[in-house]
Amino acid sequence: MCGVERLSPHICRLFLDPATALYYHPGQFINLRRFDGLTRSYSLASVPRRDALVEIHVKRLPSGRMSH
Ligand SMILES: Cc1cc2nc3c(=O)[nH]c(=O)nc-3n(C[C@H](O)[C@H](O)[C@H](O)COP(=O)(O)OP(=O)(O)OC[C@H]3O[C@@H](n4cnc5c(N)ncnc54)[C@H](O)[C@@H]3O)c2cc1C
Repeated sequence: MCGVERLSPHICRLFLDPATALYYHPGQFINLRRFDGLTRSYSLASVPRRDALVEIHVKRLPSGRMSH
């Protein structure tokens, strides 16, 4: 992760810098895997071929293991 910005009390915008080039289309999502293997899907909010960084918006859920 290379940036985080709070959009509201429960939603954060995260900027990710993929280790390798990522080719995607609007509407696609990525699976993020944590160090312990926990994996969750997040919709891509960035614009393919325009944005250098990959952007996702994460809503924090009460006791959410990944989103917290
Ligand atoms: C294709 C796809 C795209 C997704 N895109 C996004 C995205 O762009 N942004 C985003 O924030 N999330 C997105 N999600 C949801 C995301 O993958 C996680 O499920 C979410 O972040 C919760 O994970 P967690 O580990 O924090 O919560 P968990 O630890 O798995 O769950 C914590 C508690 O919250 C409850 N819970 C789980 N999901 C929800 C929900 N949706 N609403 C209410 N309660 C819930 C659980 O039952 C549990 O009680 C997407 C899911 C899919 C399948």
